[in-house]
Amino acid sequence: MKELFDVTIIGGGPAGLYAAFYSGLRKMKTKIIEYQPQLGGKVLLYPEKMIWDVGGQPPILGDSFTKQLVQQALTFHPAVCLNTKVDVIDKNKNGHFVIRTDTGEEHYSKAVIMANGGGIVNPQKLKVEGAEKFEMTNLHYTVPSLRSFKDKVVLISGGGNTAIDWAVELLPIARKILLVYRKDVLSAHEAQVDQLRNSNASLLSNTTITKLIANPEKRKIEKVQLLNSKTEEVTLQEVDHVIVNHGYNQDASLGFAPSLHIEKKDGYFYQGTATGLTTEKGIFAAGDILSYDGKINLLAGAFQDAVNAVNAAKTYTEPAAESIAMVSSHNDIFEARNRELMKELVYEN
Ligand SMILES: Cc1cc2nc3c(=O)[nH]c(=O)nc-3n(C[C@H](O)[C@H](O)[C@H](O)COP(=O)(O)OP(=O)(O)OC[C@H]3O[C@@H](n4cnc5c(N)ncnc54)[C@H](O)[C@@H]3O)c2cc1C
Repeated sequence: MKELFDVTIIGGGPAGLYAAFYSGLRKMKTKIIEYQPQLGGKVLLYPEKMIWDVGGQPPILGDSFTKQLVQQALTFHPAVCLNTKVDVIDKNKNGHFVIRTDTGEEHYSKAVIMANGGGIVNPQKLKVEGAEKFEMTNLHYTVPSLRSFKDKVVLISGGGNTAIDWAVELLPIARKILLVYRKDVLSAHEAQVDQLRNSNASLLSNTTITKLIANPEKRKIEKVQLLNSKTEEVTLQEVDHVIVNHGYNQDASLGFAPSLHIEKKDGYFYQGTATGLTTEKGIFAAGDILSYDGKINLLAGAFQDAVNAVNAAKTYTEPAAESIAMVSSHNDIFEARNRELMKELVYEN
């Protein structure tokens, strides 16, 4: 018989990670299932952006924030399954949830927290032959480190907010910025577009990448062939890096067995309450996936949702349990850890 967990969290983004910490604090046997090879959710899309609006947290880079979130989530050693896509959730005759994955595995749980955010989000890839070969070198779908673009020639493909945002961000860092976009106009915030137009960046409208020309030894793109769809002119551009921002593919295909009546809003979000309830008993939700009046689609909102969803899951699995947990500063569960931390603090000072 497969191991039974008190709560299984679908999605290892901010909501799921904080839920894992909090369910550990509530002494629940916890599992996280995440499709991506890494924990972090959407914050992995903005590793080099500064986050300012989390209470009590000084400005912090997305990448560092993810590391902190993951460290906190692992405090009580939840089971973590990466590279695992949840396809269907069902219930067995014992009243336990059966979570089926794309590889045919089954996971068993007394309660489920849906923290699947915007679904599975993957960047739209560049549709040019052989492009995937350069993903390990100088073709990027997100910006892992601004420093690696210092004094480089960077070609950015895309006409939306993300592409323009990176172009502006890299202006003072890169030697040269070229922005190529398919349409006549850029569809991004006016102030950002103006900033770019008033800079020395080259903006090439009606232009697409048609070929990547590589140095076979270094397996790096050296030149990019561009086509102007209006003039039909073909040009070659020498580059050090190519960044592609053509939007995202969203896979929100997670299904529930017909006996589980999860109500949706606008076809995708789970209709629920501010206390983390969905329309199915035993299935709770937190973060971007959950919709209710007064919902805040921010990290701060995801954390509040996570606490509510865990508290609801706790009383669902143990009806005699307190409805809320003791605050962390007075919670006995941290006693041994606090002694260690206090020793370190005293020793350091
Ligand atoms: C560019 C950008 C900048 C932002 N900046 C800020 C900011 O400055 N401040 C702020 O407060 N908020 C910001 N946000 C919003 C914030 O990132 C989100 O509110 C937050 O990530 C929501 O967390 P979540 O855990 O609900 O969902 P997500 O972060 O979307 O995580 C959901 C996870 O579930 C996984 N998943 C989905 N479906 C399945 C499945 N079927 N099986 C297994 N796993 C699955 C996904 O792979 C993903 O890892 C920003 C968002 C973006 C896109």
